[in-house]
Amino acid sequence: MPKKCYFHVDVNSAFLAWEAAWRIQHGDPVDIREIPSVVGGTQATRHGIVLAKSTLAKKLYKAQTGESIFGLKQRAPNILVVPPRHGLYEIASQAFIDHLSDFSPKVERFSVDEAFVEYTGLEKLYGEPEQAAKKLSASIKQKLGFTVNIGISSNKLLAKMAGELEKPDKVHTIWPEEVPQKMWPLPIGELYMVGRKTEEKLKARGIFTIGDLARCKENMLRSSFKSQGSLLWNFANGRCFDTGKAGAANFQGMLPNNKETINAKGLGNSTTIAFDVEDMACAHRVLLSLSETVGSRLRENGYRAKTIHVSYATSEFKRSGKQKTYHFPCASTTEIFSRAVEVFDSMWSGEPMRQMGVWTGGFSIYNNAQVSMFSKAWKQEAVDNAIDKMRKKYGNHAAFRAVFLNSDIRHMIGGTASLRNFPYGG
Ligand SMILES: [Mg+2]
Repeated sequence: MPKKCYFHVDVNSAFLAWEAAWRIQHGDPVDIREIPSVVGGTQATRHGIVLAKSTLAKKLYKAQTGESIFGLKQRAPNILVVPPRHGLYEIASQAFIDHLSDFSPKVERFSVDEAFVEYTGLEKLYGEPEQAAKKLSASIKQKLGFTVNIGISSNKLLAKMAGELEKPDKVHTIWPEEVPQKMWPLPIGELYMVGRKTEEKLKARGIFTIGDLARCKENMLRSSFKSQGSLLWNFANGRCFDTGKAGAANFQGMLPNNKETINAKGLGNSTTIAFDVEDMACAHRVLLSLSETVGSRLRENGYRAKTIHVSYATSEFKRSGKQKTYHFPCASTTEIFSRAVEVFDSMWSGEPMRQMGVWTGGFSIYNNAQVSMFSKAWKQEAVDNAIDKMRKKYGNHAAFRAVFLNSDIRHMIGGTASLRNFPYGG
């Protein structure tokens, strides 16, 4: 068995970097990363907060992620404030993941701008991990136009901790034998999963560094912090365990596509649209696109769903959602779509939307599902299954509904045509 090796790859100031890369690719002579700038909600409404900042915004004006744009503008009236563009981030994020997937067959998306890449067994192909990480980082910069931090170790926790050591555009390792030297001197708040509240509680017990925590007795932590105490104690000692569950707390599940995850959480998909969706026909096309993806994933996993949940967010990020449980479970795209439309039409009052989602739950195992004898769903599922096979073999574009021909909505998932010429679109 080759020694396990993971890279944690994290985009530096992702929202700002993606906006900058997009502007440069569209002929803007100014690189907004090089001037005092932030990405954040609109100044007009006075509600926005800072989502990302440039180095100069931090240095000159002490801009902080999460502070109000209004407050920042009082200190820095001339700072450039760029509104967030979630449609762009989705595309850039996918390009990032696609690029990593060309490098390693095992890529796990961890957040919009972070992923774990398994390097185990790839030494023969690319050489020593650090050299390979530097090459990967350079190729991202050259092809996609933004920088990343890469942390390397034999488990995902240490790889993530290594990625945080020094920013931006850096490659660092924290191998288990390097934990005392590189990780223990760090303040306790820097440990993964230590939030502000936990940090305060730990400090109240005289634990100020990760090393302080590592040297504690596990029993003592367990009595004060229950299972979280054990988890953090293991983290401080550089250990994380394979629980087989997907999720941020345990770095597990190389892809969130296994049946257990689906069982627990439901299965769904949402998309951000780069323009305001204001008419019913367009909204239905987005729902159909989402239903396509949800349906194919349900069928792939052998599930039918009884419950459907539809949600949307307005251009002001006001969220609404509604769900309905039907008597018969289904996995057919057409049926999921018609249910999604029913739920949506009963709640939408015409406000412009920027985000829409379709979720399903209440699963039953495919083959045992009780399906109405009079339902056309069986036949539709047979058609869907044939299309799934074709798409699997020839790619998602092998078959799509005519309604998406020349449409501004992609036939699966979403995304928009107005950004299609963006190189990240691929
Ligand atoms: Mg980042």
